[in-house]
Amino acid sequence: MMAERQVEIDRVEREWQHLSRLVDPELPGWSRTGFSDADRAARDWLLRQMREAGLEAVQDAAGNLVGYLEGDMPGAPDIVIGSHSDTVPGGGRFDGIVGVLGAIEVARTLTRSGARLRRGLRIVDFANEEGNPQGVKLVGSRAAAGSLDAHALGSTDPEGVTLATLMERAGLRPDEVSRARWKARDIAAYIELHIEQGPHLEQSSAHIGIVTSICGISTFSLDVRGRRDHAGTMPMNVRQDAMCCAADAVLAVREVAASGAGAVGTVGQVTTSSPLTNTISEQATVTGEFRSPDLAALQDMQARFAQRTAHLDELHRTQSALTWGHFDAPTPMDERLSRLAHAASTDLGYDTLQLYSGATHDGVAIADLAPTAMIFIPSRDGRSHCPEEWSDFEDVERGINVLLETVLRIDASL
Ligand SMILES: [Zn+2]
Repeated sequence: MMAERQVEIDRVEREWQHLSRLVDPELPGWSRTGFSDADRAARDWLLRQMREAGLEAVQDAAGNLVGYLEGDMPGAPDIVIGSHSDTVPGGGRFDGIVGVLGAIEVARTLTRSGARLRRGLRIVDFANEEGNPQGVKLVGSRAAAGSLDAHALGSTDPEGVTLATLMERAGLRPDEVSRARWKARDIAAYIELHIEQGPHLEQSSAHIGIVTSICGISTFSLDVRGRRDHAGTMPMNVRQDAMCCAADAVLAVREVAASGAGAVGTVGQVTTSSPLTNTISEQATVTGEFRSPDLAALQDMQARFAQRTAHLDELHRTQSALTWGHFDAPTPMDERLSRLAHAASTDLGYDTLQLYSGATHDGVAIADLAPTAMIFIPSRDGRSHCPEEWSDFEDVERGINVLLETVLRIDASL
């Protein structure tokens, strides 16, 4: 039952080139941050592409582009495919974009070949997946899942501008965001094609990755209190040096994370309120996060890090307060959908690997609503969220083929 339907990868590459020009010239890399002028221009253009592909397409109150290809069985829940087209500041040209252009190409390929699905096919470009200065990620997919609440819309950037205001300035209607909400009973499946953003597929020479779980994230802040003393006169063995305790805490994060499969831990920031070179630090703050695709492993890292910081206080005669911030549990992907995608990929002759996702995706929000699966393609050198981000178009083509074949199999398994 292999499809003879031919994906037009040259066309996808041309569209990708066009989208690569719709970026903010004042920011480094390929920046198209959510709700910016460049983002608006890109989504206006993508909306036209969806319509030219024969989709009934609209932009909803949250800024999501939703295109629709009708199926033969009215009332049957839809299959949803897509991703996001915004980027981080200084980002690349593939993260998210591959999944949006790939989804449009799937619809076009079906239409071109005269294939009819039984289910409706929804093509989506989720608004502002990457987040904003207000600190809210997955804006559009959370709106679709009904989890973009007043608290999120009221979040402010350092200048006090709310997310709602940012969206209004982009011509959207945050007050009507509830109208962007999807009904769970209308969605049979959500499948997202995305770049891996890590090195595993490339290292194992696999063409396609099927995601088992999207990592959970636990953020923390460690506030260390020491004692301010003279850097020249206070002997080493009686110091209460907050900076030394903070330094050990950074290394403790690395050690705690090194023990679990797929676990990672990162300290992105260490600050001190006493930044003087001739004075022993009386205070330091260590801010970081742990991630794991496994809930028990994530909780275990939390417990072990808490133990380690208590021990470090004894060692450095300091007093630390550990505060846990956001906790997002890992999101397992739907097993049945993932099996269908895996079989589609291997039947197409592609070397296929199961892997977890260390990065968050719109699928985290949509998994609350519908069975969700993700298809990954390799990222050169595992690089992402940087201008060097690259995936070969042979891999993009394979990814779109797997997406198309998975859609056909889900439709056939009704
Ligand atoms: Zn992404």
